[in-house]
Amino acid sequence: MAVMTFAGAALKNFFSKPVTTKYPAEPAEYKERTRGHIEISIDDCIGCGMCTRCCPCGTLSIDKIKGTWTINRFDCIACGFCVEKCPKKCLTMVAGYQTPDGEKETVTYTKSPEVLEAEAKQREEMAKKAAEAKKAAEAKKAAEAAKAAEEKKPEG
Ligand code: SF4
Ligand code: SF4
Repeated sequence: MAVMTFAGAALKNFFSKPVTTKYPAEPAEYKERTRGHIEISIDDCIGCGMCTRCCPCGTLSIDKIKGTWTINRFDCIACGFCVEKCPKKCLTMVAGYQTPDGEKETVTYTKSPEVLEAEAKQREEMAKKAAEAKKAAEAKKAAEAAKAAEEKKPEG
């Protein structure tokens, strides 16, 4: 009986496709929910730093002024926290693993010149508005002080 079962299984396997793949001779097939590596849509990043603060491995860093986002893929454990926490949803977990290397190299993504220029202009405008508001507040304070001093003056 056991021989019959074995022969049946052998015969079935002989005519069916192998369950293994021919990787690396053929591209690897990743499952839909594979935790491969993190990618960023850098122009959508607002530089809030949420991803850097929640990363348990401290593998991310950002420079808001230069518009860069840097990851050391060799330290990333693909936990997906940064993807979950990003308020702009510009991080995604993509299939495909980090290629092995002898050095722990970092990868830096930089925003496009157009976006960097628009952000610099926005910062300039905000700084200008803040300076104007400060100047107006100081002028108001000085006017109030002058009025109070005037009221305190003895009549005559
Ligand atoms: S997936 Fe996890 S370990 Fe990797 S960068 Fe994001 S938070 Fe850090
Ligand atoms: S959490 Fe998202 S928006 Fe904020 S710095 Fe990271 S990638 Fe950019």
